[in-house]
Amino acid sequence: MSLGTQDKINKEDHLKPFFQELVDIIKLEKPSKEKLANLKIKLCAKHKVKKIPTDIEILLNAPNSDFSKIKKLIQTKPTRTISGVAIVAVMTKPHKCPHGKCTICPGGIKSTFGTVPQSYTGHEPATMRGIRNKFEPYTQVFNRLEQYIVLGHVPDKVELIIMGGTFISTNQNYKLNYVTGCFQAMNDFSKLFFSKGKLNIKKFKEFFELPGRVGDEKRTKLIHAKINKLIEKTKQKKTKNKKQLNKTELKKELIHAQKNNEKTKIRCVGLTIETRPDQGRASHGNEMLDLGTTRVELGIQSVFDHVLQKINRGHDVNESIKSIQELKDLGFKLNFHYMLGLPGSNPKKDLEGLNELFKNQNFRPDMLKIYPCMVMPGTKLEKELENNEYKPISTKTAAEIIAKFKKFIPTYCRIMRVQRDIPPQLAVAGVDRSNLRQIVDQVCKKQNIRCRCIRCREIGRAKKVEKIELIDQKYKASNGTEFFISAEDKKNDVIAGFCRLRFPSKQAFHPKQIRSEITKDSALIRELHVYGEAESIKQNKEKNKKINKSTQINAKTATQHKGLGKKLLNHAEQIAKQNKKNKIIVISGIGAREYYRKLGYKKQGPYMVKNI
Ligand code: SF4
Ligand SMILES: [Zn+2]
Repeated sequence: MSLGTQDKINKEDHLKPFFQELVDIIKLEKPSKEKLANLKIKLCAKHKVKKIPTDIEILLNAPNSDFSKIKKLIQTKPTRTISGVAIVAVMTKPHKCPHGKCTICPGGIKSTFGTVPQSYTGHEPATMRGIRNKFEPYTQVFNRLEQYIVLGHVPDKVELIIMGGTFISTNQNYKLNYVTGCFQAMNDFSKLFFSKGKLNIKKFKEFFELPGRVGDEKRTKLIHAKINKLIEKTKQKKTKNKKQLNKTELKKELIHAQKNNEKTKIRCVGLTIETRPDQGRASHGNEMLDLGTTRVELGIQSVFDHVLQKINRGHDVNESIKSIQELKDLGFKLNFHYMLGLPGSNPKKDLEGLNELFKNQNFRPDMLKIYPCMVMPGTKLEKELENNEYKPISTKTAAEIIAKFKKFIPTYCRIMRVQRDIPPQLAVAGVDRSNLRQIVDQVCKKQNIRCRCIRCREIGRAKKVEKIELIDQKYKASNGTEFFISAEDKKNDVIAGFCRLRFPSKQAFHPKQIRSEITKDSALIRELHVYGEAESIKQNKEKNKKINKSTQINAKTATQHKGLGKKLLNHAEQIAKQNKKNKIIVISGIGAREYYRKLGYKKQGPYMVKNI
């Protein structure tokens, strides 16, 4: 789901007569569920509407005068988001990176693209949302949650992603206020629009002035005024006539907002922060833990010092290695950003670098975003290109390198993206197509390469699922021991869920203990992930019904899938015990704490722990 989808839904005025006719017929004929489904398809064809609307969408687009009548006639319970987790990406205000500027980096204060967050252009969906909402965290979160509901989903499990420049290097009050704002938005949204777990559609519709159009200035102003009132209300409660809170008070506020989020409807089950290795050391990690962070997107960009130097990265490979180890020892999941086609590299070196990421135990990421370099206007790299000092990477070369790399990606890693979300037409040179992933897939097909990363083997993509069993994979990473425990159907090469267990490195205790909760006999659970639980199975069953072939998931498999999280966790606990560990430490999203409490875990600092 993307902002674009909703923009289209609201912008295309031809949808008005479509919804009007649909509502009129529903009022008149009071159709059954089945008949309503057929009616939707028929009218979509008539009005050339590409996406069949959900029942919630019909209700939100019905004229207010018809609201009550329609509500009684159609199913209005929104569904959980398809993947089980709703991504809410928020953009921080434009700020400078502490080391200066990388030669490849677009955006920033007073850039060619205007004053936009560093490393962005103002044209990415999350940046556009940020600009529209003046980079206010509260408003951005509210806005994104609204979009999920409009599309018929309840975003009750949120993965929050904080983007833009190097957030962790900004001043502490800004960081505390920012993250608190995000949590408060989720809490207030839950309180305002949900009662006893159910969505109050009428209230939601009124608040967001629906039906309405995104970009309609009058509507935006009205909504912003209401949201600002909510922000003011919280601020007044907080400050009690004092002008500004000090750091200690701000920290208290954050803890309060986090605590409320533990049991509210819209819960933050994961928080991701983007950072660079020199701003990703143990001290930054500890701060990120207090903010509620569970995953770090770490811009390592290259494993070659001369390349990092050429792009004025401001840190070396050694710094990346230290940062990776410290963050893993604190329990974070790590998603590396790695660039291809940088100055000083070439296709051979690029492939070597990708290979090194897994051959060398100092790297070994859990997730990976591969970004072929794009030459952006206003950057130093653009000048180098003009002076013939740099040769950009082409779409074809990038696709070939990534396809080759897919041959050796280990099964414990997930390739998240293969290109930036910057529209290619904004670039001066470099990858010029926005569908690089598909181009890579075509190369793989031709050369008979099958990617075995987590993403490519997820149950939601599977054609057939039979017997799911637990598989252990042990490997060394950043001087610690990792166990990748996966729930897989070996025969069909499908993964239904997994758990990452780590025994920290010796350096986590020498020269000093990295964090008081983490003792020498502790085992860390860095990630526990079950693919949408029954969701993916349901989805496949639906697909199966529709296309009547290919996907086959039987009832036995569905039962196996249930309670998989608990099974994986139990198994991890067993491994820890066998290795004489006496404490399990889980890096849990704030909104997932209750889940662990039910399984006998207790909160200790930012973690959930259990003595075993
Ligand atoms: S660290 Fe990232 S955001 Fe900062 S200048 Fe370099 S590329 Fe840009
Ligand atoms: Zn893959």
